[in-house]
Amino acid sequence: MTPEEFRRHAHGFVDWMADYLASVGDLPVKAQVRPGEIAARLPLQAPQAGEQMATIFDDFRHIVMPGITHWQHPSFFAYFPANSSPPSVLAEMLMATLGVNGMLWQTSPAATELETRVMEWIRDMLGLPPTFSGVIQDTASTATLCALLTARERATGWRSNQEGLQGMSRFRVYASEETHSSIEKDVRIAGLGAANLRKIAVDEANAMRPQALAEAIEADRRAGHQPLAIIATSGSTANGAFDPLDAIADISAGNGLWLHVDAAWAGSAMILPEQRHLMRGAERADSFVFNPHKWLLTNFDCTAYLVRDVDALVRTFDIMRVYFDTKERGQAIDYRDWGIQLGRRFRALKLWFVIRSYGVAGLQALVRQHIAAAQAFAQAVRTEEDFELMAPAPLALVVFRYRPAGHPANDLDRLNSELAQRLNDGGQLYLTPGKARGAVTLRLSVGQSGTRSEHVERAWQLIRDTARTL
Ligand code: PLP
Repeated sequence: MTPEEFRRHAHGFVDWMADYLASVGDLPVKAQVRPGEIAARLPLQAPQAGEQMATIFDDFRHIVMPGITHWQHPSFFAYFPANSSPPSVLAEMLMATLGVNGMLWQTSPAATELETRVMEWIRDMLGLPPTFSGVIQDTASTATLCALLTARERATGWRSNQEGLQGMSRFRVYASEETHSSIEKDVRIAGLGAANLRKIAVDEANAMRPQALAEAIEADRRAGHQPLAIIATSGSTANGAFDPLDAIADISAGNGLWLHVDAAWAGSAMILPEQRHLMRGAERADSFVFNPHKWLLTNFDCTAYLVRDVDALVRTFDIMRVYFDTKERGQAIDYRDWGIQLGRRFRALKLWFVIRSYGVAGLQALVRQHIAAAQAFAQAVRTEEDFELMAPAPLALVVFRYRPAGHPANDLDRLNSELAQRLNDGGQLYLTPGKARGAVTLRLSVGQSGTRSEHVERAWQLIRDTARTL
């Protein structure tokens, strides 16, 4: 494709993108296709000869688009959001055009230096102290794995990377019963063994019980195991629960453990000074992760990983070869040493575009707006006789269920599963069923870039109307 052909197609694509953003709210949120339906429309073999871009684009519209669930739909309330925004998309276009691999300072000094500055902005926006340094990772799963590997290396006197874990005592990792599945996956990958992840009991607000944590650590020590790390959750996926970080940090410090805070979703709310009390104690953690790609208008993927001890991080991941030995080594950051990947996308560019385009105040206003809309929804649930909240509903996550008067208690799970399915199949909104207090729930997560209070109010109306037809 010549640059002129590229220009022509790109202009056409941008027109399509702008139209999509303007009309995504009219599409069914969840893809309305059956398993295998898209694959059946794709040729079994790759084409031998190159095809026209117009033909490819046509297939994108007619084959791919029907199989898209619209995460940028303002009535997307499922999971946690994976936000996009026009400034972020524009930056992605530039990034894609530059095609930079920012593994070393030398391979694109601007990619490195912009990442450093933007992560300083992010740290300050969250109110974390300057003792934290940040690096962009692909996902929270990867960042937490980095934390576990660094904790493991530090605890073994930097031997486990060289010698493996054979002959070492059994390391134990602690997280609440609410912890995200990625933590268990990371514990497995770090070679620690899923059986050594101890799930600590939670209280009625689904938060880790510090007393139970202290007792588990003590019991492990008595049994000859080696407590290694605590993964505290700030904003759990199922119920939005916040572990008491200050009390956990005391236990962590008293036992010389690594404290990692998984704030994948809720970390974005720390840009609001009035919400920081939920994560009081985060400043005492060894590492902290949150996803601007969830709630901070930055396209997937963009995870902010903040650490207090950069030397420990670099010592864990640094590996030398002659082709990495640039003359600037030691004078500038080589982000390849700050995580698992060697090759790195220029993700800082989109975060920079987003922060500059909205300003901190603009981002704060949007997150506040989401929280207010979710809180109004939670209040409506509280006051409606046939519905009940199933968790405290902090920030912008509301966990609730339909419980019509007189309905047999043993049929409520079926009823709520059916309600979720009807709503999602209807295409007007998309939410995730969940489980809380042993019961099937509906989980409404407000945070999509385009979601405003009217979308949440409409969702409530639709949920009530649909429930009453069951
Ligand atoms: N931790 C929590 C609390 C989450 O909610 C999620 C995802 O929703 C993750 C970790 C994993 O995030 P990622 O997809 O960035 O790995």
